[in-house]
Amino acid sequence: MTEIIEGGCLCGQVRYQTSCTKPLFKVNCHCRDCQKLSGSPYVAVMGVPETSFSVTGDLNCFEHQGGSGGTMKSYCCSKCNSRIYGTPEIAKGMVLIVAMSLDNPEFYSADADMFVKQAVSWDMMNSDIPKFDSSMFRRGG
Ligand SMILES: [Zn+2]
Ligand SMILES: [Zn+2]
Repeated sequence: MTEIIEGGCLCGQVRYQTSCTKPLFKVNCHCRDCQKLSGSPYVAVMGVPETSFSVTGDLNCFEHQGGSGGTMKSYCCSKCNSRIYGTPEIAKGMVLIVAMSLDNPEFYSADADMFVKQAVSWDMMNSDIPKFDSSMFRRGG
């Protein structure tokens, strides 16, 4: 039996699935880009291999300079604007799924917090998981 993780946007036009039931990482990102893009103090994202991921529906792509260096492409539903996933240039072959778009958001729980230096003072974090000042992907950063 193959387990499939599914999710989609608010209006239901965009649907995706991944066969990756053990994400490569699950991290709460507190960077300014995520704050601006989401309107929230942080964004919960999980990394899955691109090969495990498929998406249907009409998406808008917004390209910006990622906090970890390189460009980041953020994909949102063209109708309801829900942010669904991103593809970072620095991690080719990987898709960052915005965890709250999952049909079952309880599937997600963070392994770490990153860009905690950019977190707002009233942000709430789990003190039991590792903290990274900036990106957990950039070496020597
Ligand atoms: Zn939508
Ligand atoms: Zn971020």
